[in-house]
Amino acid sequence: GSISSQGPRQLTTAQHTAQEERLVVAVRVRPSQEATDRCIEVVSSSSLLYDDGGKSRPRQYSYDHVFRENDTQEYVYKTTTAPLVRDVLNGYNAAVFAYGATGSGKTHTMLGPVPRKKPATADRPPATAASSYDGDVSSHDTGLMVRAIEDIFEHIESASADNSCKVSISYLEIYNELIRDLLNPGGPLELREDHRGQRITVAGLSEITTSSRKEVVGLLMKGNKSRTMEPTAANQTSSRSHALLSITVQTRTPLGTKQGRLFLTDLAGSERAKKTKNRGKRLQEGAHINRSLLALGNCINALSGGARYVNYRDSKLTRLLKEALSGRCKTVMIAHVAPEGKHRDETKNTLVYADRANSITTKLQNSVYLDEFKDFPTKHYQSLVSELRDEV
Ligand code: ADP
Ligand code: MG
Repeated sequence: GSISSQGPRQLTTAQHTAQEERLVVAVRVRPSQEATDRCIEVVSSSSLLYDDGGKSRPRQYSYDHVFRENDTQEYVYKTTTAPLVRDVLNGYNAAVFAYGATGSGKTHTMLGPVPRKKPATADRPPATAASSYDGDVSSHDTGLMVRAIEDIFEHIESASADNSCKVSISYLEIYNELIRDLLNPGGPLELREDHRGQRITVAGLSEITTSSRKEVVGLLMKGNKSRTMEPTAANQTSSRSHALLSITVQTRTPLGTKQGRLFLTDLAGSERAKKTKNRGKRLQEGAHINRSLLALGNCINALSGGARYVNYRDSKLTRLLKEALSGRCKTVMIAHVAPEGKHRDETKNTLVYADRANSITTKLQNSVYLDEFKDFPTKHYQSLVSELRDEV
């Protein structure tokens, strides 16, 4: 990490007891056919080696979890999201972020295999959401979004008959700082704040109440198809938008109603503008994407450091996630990396982003040195800002 040690530290543990485990950081390595030129080797369930191409010795990174190429969707779900679902059913908020460059596996983790737009042939009819993803939630490849919904329904069915539950979902994208409803695509929607700036809502966003798993899966696949996909030099199906699914569970108990919300976010590609040779419109998108990922990183840093003031205002993404990020909310970041040598630079960037988040968590779990944290978020912010300046 970038925290330097300068002289003796005052140890304070009282301030963060409620924040332990606030941020869990996992890294998932995407499968690859590449046998020789690789930059990642997973060495345990919590660490990996990064090879910079032989310039220096491989460097070890450790996280809360490291998922290898053949780890199943079920395993990833059980490790990262299942514990949050229990929280949500108890009336708390929780959030999962999929972070990483385009092509690193974010959408695979969150949604599962998505039909590709391949030209149809005589023996291969055009892929549709229905043909390759028919709502069979037991599918091996089903992603976290569907598994979470599935899990919530199962818990509800086995819960006490005294409690009645309502599950509703909304699904939106943020593209170029504009919000669009993915369940009911149309013009951009506005953020509304109450007079104290506490509750933030999206005016006109559809919120669908459902009790059918199959319907939910269909809605998600259809919503994903409405996401803004723009080809860049990095990848033909590059996704330059953030997709945010929110699942709200309201439980009426004899004692009152409790509400918990789970946010599952498939973030836009984290690749840097320079590499994708973006020009004009693309470059502007890149700037927005980096701005919101930067803002998100800053919020996470500030929250993990126990900061009194957290700035959510820098991007739509962080304003929207304020509810999830503040209060008693557990957050999991799943950083995705590609193991091929040709993706070395992006993979390194992602490992470092995740490492920053993770080093803070580890510090919190052990002991916090207050004076170290005082300037850490600002330093981090400054270095990221200068990185962004270099790009544009
Ligand atoms: P991103 O959303 O980060 O741009 P994708 O999820 O679209 O990346 O993944 C890129 C490709 O790799 C897709 O064809 C996807 O199906 C495949 N892929 C990614 N992760 C996995 C995985 N864990 N297992 C199998 N295939 C994967
Ligand atoms: Mg994607």
